[in-house]
Amino acid sequence: AAGGGAGGKVWRVGGGPGDPGLLTDKAARLLARAGLVLHDHLVGPGVMALVPPQARRICVGKRDRRHTLPQEQINALLVQLAASGQDVVRLKGGDPYVFGRGGEEALALAQAGIPFEVVPGITSAQGMSAYAGIPLSHRQHASSIVFATGHCKDGGEAPDWAALARPRQTVVFYMGLGALATICRQLAAHGLPGETPAAVVERATTPHQRVVAGTLRTLPLLAAAQQVAAPALVVVGEVVTLSEDLGWFARAGNRVAA
Ligand code: SAH
Repeated sequence: AAGGGAGGKVWRVGGGPGDPGLLTDKAARLLARAGLVLHDHLVGPGVMALVPPQARRICVGKRDRRHTLPQEQINALLVQLAASGQDVVRLKGGDPYVFGRGGEEALALAQAGIPFEVVPGITSAQGMSAYAGIPLSHRQHASSIVFATGHCKDGGEAPDWAALARPRQTVVFYMGLGALATICRQLAAHGLPGETPAAVVERATTPHQRVVAGTLRTLPLLAAAQQVAAPALVVVGEVVTLSEDLGWFARAGNRVAA
């Protein structure tokens, strides 16, 4: 399928949050004809089942902070595979350009002159929102939405807590579980009431989805008591209270009809 020369091409494909029904049609078609798939561990079995059995699969994903392959090596591997003439589907959890170092990877391809396409995916915050019944915006509760990284260690820049603690805002933290206590404490220290609703949603859109809801004050203990594990999102804002009425997926026993 690569045009012109002997080199291959890379399709950077969003695999969505878990439920294979949430793949785009384009992603599903690319997976069904793939010969070589490089995927993260975040991509679940339902999505991987769409890859032909004879296709080669390479898991380069990260589990927590123990990287299976450092990002630089993933970049080098992608470049090398494509340069050797192979077409590669690079399958990412969620959307390829929402966290997970997707932009760096694409730049490595661009710099190496490797042709690539990007297929967007439903990012986990959107899947979580729909399946946990937590609208990201709501006329009464939130007029802006922030996706933030909660991974505030490893010498990275400190989050702008004052901006994250603004009222009438929904904040979704990716990779936030390890820093949950810090997140709740800092948001309260920067002005959000301790009673602000907050939740962690584990393995959103999958049969294992769990929603643990509380407040900035109570959530860290609740999540620890229930042994919430990654992958999980942390959601902060008044919209969290809607989950009780809108959580259709839990009420259906974490099953989808279609
Ligand atoms: N590109 C991905 C995000 C990669 S960063 C996306 O668009 O969703 C990895 C983080 O995504 C995890 O630490 C977790 O916070 C979140 N995540 C991914 N899939 C998830 C899921 N099914 N349920 C809850 N969180 C998820």
